[in-house]
Amino acid sequence: MSIRLRLTLWYVLVLAVILLAFAGALYAVLSFSLFTEVDRRLQIRAADVQNSLSTALELQSDPRVFILRGGRLALPTADTFAEPGVFVQVSTLDGVALTRSENLGAQTLVVSSAALSQVTRGETVYANLSREQVPLRVYIAPLTVRGQVIAAIVVAESLQGVNSTLRRLAALLVGGIVAGLAFAFVVGAVLAYNALAPIDRITQTAHTIARSNDLTRRIEAKPTRDEVGRLAATFNEMLGRIEELFRVQQRFVADVSHELRSPLTAIRGNLDLLRRGALDEVAARQDSLGAIEAETARMQRLVQDLLLLAQADAGAPIERRVVELDTLLLDVFRQARLNAGNVKVALGSEDQVQVIGDADRLKQLFLNLMDNAIKYTASGGEVTLSFAREADGVRVAIADTGVGIPATDLPRIFDRFYRVDKARSRDPSINSGGGTGLGLAICKSIVDAHGGRIQVQSQVGKGSTFTVWLPVEQKRDEGRKNTD
Ligand code: ADP
Repeated sequence: MSIRLRLTLWYVLVLAVILLAFAGALYAVLSFSLFTEVDRRLQIRAADVQNSLSTALELQSDPRVFILRGGRLALPTADTFAEPGVFVQVSTLDGVALTRSENLGAQTLVVSSAALSQVTRGETVYANLSREQVPLRVYIAPLTVRGQVIAAIVVAESLQGVNSTLRRLAALLVGGIVAGLAFAFVVGAVLAYNALAPIDRITQTAHTIARSNDLTRRIEAKPTRDEVGRLAATFNEMLGRIEELFRVQQRFVADVSHELRSPLTAIRGNLDLLRRGALDEVAARQDSLGAIEAETARMQRLVQDLLLLAQADAGAPIERRVVELDTLLLDVFRQARLNAGNVKVALGSEDQVQVIGDADRLKQLFLNLMDNAIKYTASGGEVTLSFAREADGVRVAIADTGVGIPATDLPRIFDRFYRVDKARSRDPSINSGGGTGLGLAICKSIVDAHGGRIQVQSQVGKGSTFTVWLPVEQKRDEGRKNTD
C-alpha cells in the first residue's frame, strides 16, 4: 500500500472517529432532552388533573364510593395550543375508564394491571404504549383525595413528533458524515499526492543515476524549506560529494599509475641495456644497476607512502600516549642536522611540552617537514625549528630561507601527488628529484589524526614557514605535572 493511500486512509479514519463520536453525542443529548421534555409535560398535566379533580372530589362525602359508582368527573380544559398532543384519561383502579379528554375520541388508554397495582400503592409509572401503530409515552399517577388513592390519572403523548425529529437528525448526520468523509478522502488524496510527488521525482532521478552511472545529474526540485525540499537538497549534496569523491579517486588512480610508470620504464630501459652488453663494461654496468636500485627505492617509498595514506583514509586509529614533544623535536633537529649538507639548521625558541598521540607518526611528520625545508633550500640557506607552548596547544614552526612556493600553488600544496616541479627545475642547486608528492599529504593526515592544524606561509625566493598546531590535553597534562 502506498504511503499516499495509507496517509489518506488514516486521515479519513481519524476524521470518521471524530465525526461519529460527535454525531453520537449530539444524537444522545438531543434525544435525552426531547424525551425528558415529554415526561415533564406529562407530569405537569397529571398534576393539573389531580389538582382540579381533588378539589371537586373533596366536596363528595365519600369520593371512593362516588368513583366506584362511576360518578361523572369533569376534566379541566387543557390549553390545547400549548399541549396539542397530550391525552388525558381517568380510570378506576381496575382499569375502567371513567372520563377522557376529547382528543381521545372513543379510544381508551389501556393500562396494564401491574402498573395499576403500582399506582394503587401510591407510586407513579411511566410506560411506552402503541395505539394503532402510534407510539405513545404514558404516565400513570394516583388520584389522591384526603390521602387515599381512589383512581388512576393516565396521561399520554404521541412520540411521533419526537421520533420523526430524531430520525431526520440521524439521516442528516449519517448523510453528512458519509459526504464529509468522501470529500475528505478526495481532498486528502490530492494533498498527499501533491506533497509526495517530489519524492517520486527523487526516486526517478536516483533510478536514472543508478542505471546510467551519470553522477553529474541532480534532482530538479523547487528549493523549498519543507521536508521534501530538504530531502532533495540533501540528496543533491550527497550526489555532489559522491561525484567529487569519485573524481578524486579517478585522479588518484591515474596519478598512481603515472608515478609507477616512470620508475618501471627506467628499470626496463636499464635492464635492456644490461642485456645488450652493458654487463661487459664495468662503469656502464654500475650506472645501470645504480639506476635500477634508485628507481626501485623510489617505488618502494611510493608504495609505503600510499599504504600510510590508505590506512589514514580507512580511519586506522593512532596510538594515544603521552609524548614528550620537546625531546622528540630535539631528536628530529639532531637527525635533520646530519642530512643538512651546506644548509644551516638552527633551533629557535623551545619549551617543555607534552601532547597525547603517536610518537612515531609525530616524528615522521616533523622529519618530513625538516627534510622538505632542507631539500628546497639552497646551500648557505638556513632552516629554523622552533616550538612554543600556547594556552591550549603547542605551535611548532619550521622556517626556511629557501625557494618558497608560488601563491598559486599554496592552496594545493597538501594535495596528493601535488608538486611545484616547474619552479624547481629552473634552480639547478635544488634537487627535487626523488620526491613522490605525497610527503605533505601524509603530514596533513598525521596532523588531522591528532586533531591539529597545519598551515604554510611562503614567499617565492625568500622562504617558507610550515606551522603545525597540536592540541594539548589540559587535564591529563596538569595531572602528570602534579604527580611529578
Ligand atoms: P615531495 O615528495 O615532492 O617533496 P611533498 O608533498 O613533500 O612532496 O611536497 C609537495 C611540494 O611542495 C613539493 O613538490 C615542493 O615543491 C613543495 N614544498 C614542500 N616543502 C617546501 C619548502 N619547504 N619549500 C619550498 N617548497 C616546498
